[in-house]
Amino acid sequence: MMKYISTRGNAPELTFEDVLLTGLATDGGLYVPKEVPHYSLEEIQSWRDLPYTELAHKVIYPFVEGCVDSAALKTMLEEVYNNTNFGHKAIAPLQQLDHNEYVLELFHGPTLAFKDFALQLLGRLLDYVLERRNEKVVIMGATSGDTGSAAIEGTKACRNVDIFILHPHGKVSEVQRRQMTTVTGDNIYNIAIEGNFDQAQDMVKASFGNQDFLRGERKLVAVNSINWARIMAQIVYYFYSSLNLGGPLRSMAYSVPTGNFGDIFAGYMAKKMGLPIEQLIIATNSNDVLHRLMSKNQYEVHPLQHTITPSMDIAVSSNFERLLFDLYDRNGPVLAELMQRMSARSDVVSLDEDRLARARELFDSYAVDEATTVDMMKEVFAETGYLLDPHTAIGVKAARECRRDKSIPMITLGTAHPVKFEDAVQRGGFDMPELPHHLADLMTREERMKVMPAELDKVQAFIAENTFKD
Ligand SMILES: *Cc1c(COP(=O)(O)O)cnc(C)c1O
Repeated sequence: MMKYISTRGNAPELTFEDVLLTGLATDGGLYVPKEVPHYSLEEIQSWRDLPYTELAHKVIYPFVEGCVDSAALKTMLEEVYNNTNFGHKAIAPLQQLDHNEYVLELFHGPTLAFKDFALQLLGRLLDYVLERRNEKVVIMGATSGDTGSAAIEGTKACRNVDIFILHPHGKVSEVQRRQMTTVTGDNIYNIAIEGNFDQAQDMVKASFGNQDFLRGERKLVAVNSINWARIMAQIVYYFYSSLNLGGPLRSMAYSVPTGNFGDIFAGYMAKKMGLPIEQLIIATNSNDVLHRLMSKNQYEVHPLQHTITPSMDIAVSSNFERLLFDLYDRNGPVLAELMQRMSARSDVVSLDEDRLARARELFDSYAVDEATTVDMMKEVFAETGYLLDPHTAIGVKAARECRRDKSIPMITLGTAHPVKFEDAVQRGGFDMPELPHHLADLMTREERMKVMPAELDKVQAFIAENTFKD
């Protein structure tokens, strides 16, 4: 059975089930698998003709073995990755932009962003595990857009989960808000906070830190990418896209629009598991803390900037800690000390030169400002007639700037559908694309949300009241 350990080396080892049901480790670290399975090229090659669900089973099962039965996992994967739930038979189709240049379309799921890949599965895994334990939990999360809707869609059918999603009132796009507030289900609560995203996020963090308001009867579960199950589900599409383009017999390059370093960490995992990946590119917007670290060896947290790529607007990339753990030879105490310095925010922190050199072997990085993002959308549209969402456009720009070898296929992860990002589409002078069929009446559906001041005790009282009503 796979065991999970904390990056800071001072928390109990957990099983998959317990990792699924927690947020941070008790020592403040993030959980990672104790050992990562490794596959030979022959073995990976033998998966070449598998449809998405069967490939997902190969990749995911070793991480959940002992907690989730093989047949049950198969059923969940078939419920999630099918043509009705993901509006495309290929689930994650490749779109070609140029010779050896592709976009991996990860936006055919219910909420039109890649987060559906993980959160659709997470909801089923939670219910399966909670049913067996005869427990109920509370999901609490803050969102600037995509995470909230994907989490709500993923857990709306869960019998054992109440879900409370905080978003900054008036600060998410209308499509994004409606994707959260129009979902019906008596376990779903949207809270619009009169404040900004950071305030919402701080309330969530404080609630995870002290869960007394739940009176010991329920636990909070995290749905952001600090939850290992999310990373796990995202490893699959790296294998899938590679196998579709002649991998593992040839290597691939990936450019990944990055915020919290979750999606790209899944690519790094795929590489560790044996998939030949020549290049992984960290593509960021002007919230470029990782690019500054990679290019100048200076880690310094800047204030958050709001951009036309809101899903990448972060000041700190939480999952980077999982990479640092490997770069520092999985030495928990050393990492705990480094993370302490990095979170102090007073000084500029540098990595040891040899660790940074290793990070640079593994990753390239590039930061793209708003004007360049819009230019990229225009450029690719002029070349191909294909409209990129602004996040994906950042990925394509970084891919073109950082590419090392043109004979290697370059795959940019297409993280969202452009219809979600009206601002960017309008700035590019494009007509708004149509909403996909299953969302055609989104703009006229009834909305439900609770507007609340940015006050922790009021928000917690609201959650407690609605959690214990039955
Ligand atoms: C969440 C998100 C990202 C960033 O993903 P991370 O895993 O946080 O790096 C990029 N693009 C879109 C559209 C997203 O929703």
